[in-house]
Amino acid sequence: MLTSSELIELVKKHDPNMEESLLRKAYAFAMEVHGLQKRASGSPYFSHPVEVARILAELGLDVVTVITGLLHDVLEDTNVCPEELEEIFGSEIAFLVEGVTKLSRINYPSSKVHQAENFRKFLMAISQDIRILVIKLVDRLHNMRTLNYVTSIEKRKKISLETLEIYVPLAERIGMNAIKDEMEDVAFYNTHPSEYRAISMKLEQIRNKDNNFIQNTILELRLVFNKAGIDAQISGREKKAYSIWKKMQRHSVTIEKINDIIAFRVIVKTVEQCYLVLGVIHTNFQIMPGRFKDYISIPKLNNYRSLHTTVIGPMRQPVEVQIRTEEMHRVADEGVAAHWSYKSGEVLVRKDEPSRYSWIKNLLTILQDSGNPEEVMDNTRLEMFKDEVFCFTPSGDLISLPRGATAVDFAYDIHTAIGNTCIGAKINGKMASLKTTLRNGDQVLIITSPYQHPDASWERFVITGKAKVCIKKFIKIQEKAEFTLLGLQLVKYVFSATELEFNEELLDYKKFSCDSLSRFFYNIGRGIIPLGMVRMSLPIAESEDQTTFNEDPLCLVDFAPGIAIHFADCCHPILGDKIIGALEPQKGMVVHLNNCSNLKDVNYFIKIKWNSDEEMETSIIIRLRIVILNKTESFAIITNIISSNGASITNIKVEHRSIEFFDLLVDIKVRDSTHMGEVLASLRTCANVRSIKRL
Ligand code: MN
Repeated sequence: MLTSSELIELVKKHDPNMEESLLRKAYAFAMEVHGLQKRASGSPYFSHPVEVARILAELGLDVVTVITGLLHDVLEDTNVCPEELEEIFGSEIAFLVEGVTKLSRINYPSSKVHQAENFRKFLMAISQDIRILVIKLVDRLHNMRTLNYVTSIEKRKKISLETLEIYVPLAERIGMNAIKDEMEDVAFYNTHPSEYRAISMKLEQIRNKDNNFIQNTILELRLVFNKAGIDAQISGREKKAYSIWKKMQRHSVTIEKINDIIAFRVIVKTVEQCYLVLGVIHTNFQIMPGRFKDYISIPKLNNYRSLHTTVIGPMRQPVEVQIRTEEMHRVADEGVAAHWSYKSGEVLVRKDEPSRYSWIKNLLTILQDSGNPEEVMDNTRLEMFKDEVFCFTPSGDLISLPRGATAVDFAYDIHTAIGNTCIGAKINGKMASLKTTLRNGDQVLIITSPYQHPDASWERFVITGKAKVCIKKFIKIQEKAEFTLLGLQLVKYVFSATELEFNEELLDYKKFSCDSLSRFFYNIGRGIIPLGMVRMSLPIAESEDQTTFNEDPLCLVDFAPGIAIHFADCCHPILGDKIIGALEPQKGMVVHLNNCSNLKDVNYFIKIKWNSDEEMETSIIIRLRIVILNKTESFAIITNIISSNGASITNIKVEHRSIEFFDLLVDIKVRDSTHMGEVLASLRTCANVRSIKRL
C-alpha cells in the first residue's frame, strides 16, 4: 500500500507548495476509521481509498481532491458524520465527501432503460463540483480493477452493466478516455465473456502472425519522418477488445474485416506539425479512402482533437494513424482533469481552453470566486439543465420532471392511482404541502389515503400534462357520480313527503327529455330539472306550498364539499349550525345558514341537516373582524391564542389602522361551531382585543 509520504510526492509533482499536514491527517484518519474492514479481495478496506487517492494524484488533481479520495467512503461505511469531517478538514473537503457519498447512495434504476440517460444527467447536475464526478469515476475505476475478487457472477455482471450504461458515458462526456477505455474493457469481459474471449483470441493470432508488426511499422514511420525533419513520438497499440466489439456491431462486420485493430499514435509539438506529418504519411503510403477525419478543425463533443487517417502501412497492412499534439493527447486521455493546472495551490483555468468546455470553465470560475456552496450549486444547475428537475422516490428511483413541478405532479408521474389518492408529501423527510415546488435532488415520499380524491384546485398548480388530464378526468367522473347521487337523494326526499313509496317506475324521465334514469337524477342534482316539477309529475294531489316539500330535514351523506355540495360564501356555515340547502342551476346544492339574508332570492330550498354520525374532518373557515390595540405584541398574542386552541389562521388582513387600533379581518380554520365558540371565548378574554365579530 502506498504510504502517505509517497502520496505526497505524487501530489507535489503538480502542486509543489501543497499543505502536507492535512493530507497526512486524512491518511491517518481514514486508516483509523476504516479499521479492520476488509475488501472482497481480503485486503484491508483502507487500500481502496488509498488507491483512489493515488489515481487522482497521478491525474494531477489538486490536494483537496486527493484528500477527498482518501476520505470518500468514510461517511458511507463508518460512523463518521459530516460535522466531524467539517471540523477536522474544513468545509470544502466535507462538501466534496458528502457529494461523493450522495452519488453513491442513489440506486441505479436498473429496470428502466429510459432512466439511464436521466440518471447520467442527474449525476452531472448534482455533481455541483466537477471534482465530485471525477472522484466518483475514479472510485468506480478502482472497483472495476478489483472486480475479479467479487465472487458472484451475477453481481459482477450487474456492476459491469451499470458501469457501461452510466459511468462510461459520463467519463466520455468529460473526456476522461483512459479511464473510460479501462472500465469498458473490464465491463465487457464480465458482461460478454465469450465475445471477449473470441476477440482476444483473434488479437492473439494477429500478434503471432507477425511478432514485430508494431515495432517494424514504428521503425518505417520514423524513417520517413526523419527524412522530412520531423521530431515525433510514435507508439502503436492494439485497440481494446470492447472498441473492436462496438465497431463490429456498428458496421455489422466480422473481426477479419476490421482493418485497424492496431492503431499508431504520432505525437508532435505543434498543430502545424500535425498537418505536416499527415502530408508526409499521405505521400509515402497509400490512403484508404473515406477514412480521414479532422478532429482538430472540428473537435468531438467532448473536445477530443486529433487527425485520423488509415493507410496501407509499411507492412502492406491497413493501419490507422492518429496525429495530435502533446496537449491534445493529454486532453484526450485525461479530459477535464487535463484542464487543471496549478500555481501555489490555486486552481487556474487555462487560457487556451476551447469554448466547448465553457461550462466547465464557468464552473471553475464560480468555484474560484465563490466561497458559497449554495451559489455554486445554483449556478451549476442553471448552466446544465435549465428545464428539468430530478427527484427520487424513497427507493431511489429517479423521476425527471419539468422545472416548477409540484409534489402532485410527482405523484401522478409515479402512478395515476397515487396521484388520485395523494394527501400529503414528505420531502427529504419533512412534511410538505402538495403544492410544494420540487427541487433537484429532492427525495419525495407521497402519502396517500383511500378517502382522498383529486381536488379541482390542484389544476391551478400542477404543470405536467399527465397530472392535468388525470385531475380533469377524475373530477368529471366524480362530478357525474355526485350529481347523480344528489339527484337520487332529492327524489327520495320528495317521495318521503308524500303517501307514495319510492318507486323508480313512477318516474317518467322521458317527459323531462332524459334518455335514462341516471341522466334524470343527474339533471336534478345539477339543478337543471327543478324539484318542484318532479313533484308535480308524481300522481298525487297538488300542494299549496311550492317552496318547501317536507318538514323533516334531509340528511346528506357521502358527499365531499366542493363538487355537488358547496358551502355558501356569504354565511360560511360550519358543522353544528342550523342550515338550509338551496339548489342552484349547474352548481348543485349550496348550503346556507338558516337565517342567511341571501335566501330571500332563492326559489327552491330544502331543509337539510348535518350528518352527525359522520366524523367530519372537514375543517371550516370562518371570518372574523377583530379590533386590537395598536401595540407591537397584539399580533403575537392573538395568533398565539388561536393556535393554542387548536385552530389555525388561513388569512389575515389589516383593514384599517389608527393610532389606537387595528381592524383585522382574520380567516380561521375550526372544526365545528363548538370549536369556534371556544376560540372566540378565548379571544374575548384577551386584554388587547377590543371587539370580535363573526362575519
Ligand atoms: Mn469507494
